[in-house]
Amino acid sequence: MAPVPEKPELSRREPVITRTTSLRCSVAFSASLKKRVRQKAHYRCCLCQAVLVEVHHIVPQGEGGPDEEDNAAPLCASCHEIYGANPTKRKFIREARDLVV
Ligand SMILES: [Zn+2]
Repeated sequence: MAPVPEKPELSRREPVITRTTSLRCSVAFSASLKKRVRQKAHYRCCLCQAVLVEVHHIVPQGEGGPDEEDNAAPLCASCHEIYGANPTKRKFIREARDLVV
């Protein structure tokens, strides 16, 4: 009897593509951390000073960004869209955030 190969066929793999919206990325921070980050920034976007902001990951979780305060920035939706998607501008988010304190 011939041995059956144990390797699963790659073609059977189902593509797991979950489209996440930009809103999803603010979920992983704890409530207390988000509160602290917002308070530090006086509840304003650290880039454009808009009020009522969300706390976003500077480096997205998908790229290994930790759920830590250093990686959290208070941003409005539009700034998050503009800067969060642009790796070269992420450094600037952190600088702007730390300026607010
Ligand atoms: Zn903004």
